[in-house]
Amino acid sequence: MSQISIFWFRRDLRLHDNAGLYHALKSGNPVLPIFIFDRNILDKLEDKKDKRIQFIHNAITEIQEQLQALGSTILVKYGTPEEVFPALLNEYNVSAIYTNHDYEPYAQIRDEAVKEYAMTEAADFYTFKDQAIFEKNEVLSGAGTPYTVFTPYSRKWKEKVNTFYLKSYPNEKYFNNFLKTEKMDIPSLAEMGFQSTATVFPKKEVRDNIVKNYAEKRDFPAIEGTSKLSVHLRFGTVSIRELARTAQKLSETWLNELIWRDFYFNILHHFPHVGQGVSFRREYDKIQWRNNEDEFKKWCEGKTGYPIVDAGMRELNTTGFMHNRVRMIVASFLTKHLLIDWRWGEAYFAQKLLDFDLSANNGGWQWASGSGCDAAPYFRVFNPRLQTEKFDKNLEYIKKWVPELNSFDYPLPMVDHDFARKRVLEVYQKALKGA
Ligand code: FAD
Repeated sequence: MSQISIFWFRRDLRLHDNAGLYHALKSGNPVLPIFIFDRNILDKLEDKKDKRIQFIHNAITEIQEQLQALGSTILVKYGTPEEVFPALLNEYNVSAIYTNHDYEPYAQIRDEAVKEYAMTEAADFYTFKDQAIFEKNEVLSGAGTPYTVFTPYSRKWKEKVNTFYLKSYPNEKYFNNFLKTEKMDIPSLAEMGFQSTATVFPKKEVRDNIVKNYAEKRDFPAIEGTSKLSVHLRFGTVSIRELARTAQKLSETWLNELIWRDFYFNILHHFPHVGQGVSFRREYDKIQWRNNEDEFKKWCEGKTGYPIVDAGMRELNTTGFMHNRVRMIVASFLTKHLLIDWRWGEAYFAQKLLDFDLSANNGGWQWASGSGCDAAPYFRVFNPRLQTEKFDKNLEYIKKWVPELNSFDYPLPMVDHDFARKRVLEVYQKALKGA
């Protein structure tokens, strides 16, 4: 049996400009690309219509078509990596497994286990930086410590970046090196216990006019002012290097958003406690949350009586997306107006967001609650009414998601703003006293 290499797709679902795949193809052995629908993850998803599984399935089907045109295939398994790799290494003569870094805690443990297993079978395990421009210790302060504040981090990031870090990997040059083999079938959603939905996913295209006007338009949820590329960045159907080059040309403000993404990867890497349900600023874990379950349910369902909050939650529940400005408003409302633990909101977003990413989601929630690195000061309590006046003055966004706004069907505000503001300040002050 001749030797092959395996390329293992995870959050990098594309053939072009893919670091790990490039190195696999260049190494010389024929490359068999694989994807595992990981039961360790899928079994935990309660919603059998989870849109993300459908998104991944679509992306893999597209890869399958591209590989078939090259006389190759992708091998897709439904199982756990612990059972899939022994079977694969038994079936093929595998000299090496290539993949890209994944910074989430589960992924780190998984990859270590696969690496160890591969070693016992005399197969190498190589992983590469692909989803970030800078990772781990690449952007550190002068004192060699990780940054915990965005502005100096981004300054250093910009000083360091150059064409070397942003150039694309020319995978196409080596496309001949995919293993030539018959098409292998992809398990259907139904075979894995999932169902498809009529979801229309955001398009995989960078629209120059959106990026150019980003600084002026990004805060208004009623208009198409942001790229909506987050789900593609999440699953790697677009390359961060390509986007960062576009950002450099067209909009520094948009480039900053891409840097926030690296920043939060960096926080999760250096401060892993944030991914384990602990506040970045540990003193915030002394807050006495109210955690009222009925109130939480109203927030989840978009029935708080605060139109901008309800519009956001309904957008999320229906589409899997929510505009960034509105994410900040609903997160502030949950933690500050209702005094519900940010971890509850984080978990709800994790279930619903198409672009759910542990580091960005955790960063966003801890920012809103005040407990995060570089967070909003705790005494900043978004006023939903003022936010609406500023960012949805004509109520266009609100009316789209809350059509019953002016009828008796729409609930009264579940809590008075001034009362809630006073209450949260007292509770936070008590918890943080002496901190
Ligand atoms: P654009 O505005 O066009 O920005 C381009 C890209 O930059 C985004 O696609 C995203 O990859 C990145 N980006 C932008 N803002 C941020 C940010 N603050 N932090 C990290 N990356 C950023 N983003 C996620 O990708 N996944 C999450 O799970 C997530 N959860 C969030 C939770 C809360 C409470 C908050 C306040 C924000 C969260 N964000 C999250 C950040 C941000 O809201 C989304 O990235 C953005 O709304 C996606 O829309 P877009 O693709 O149009 O972004």
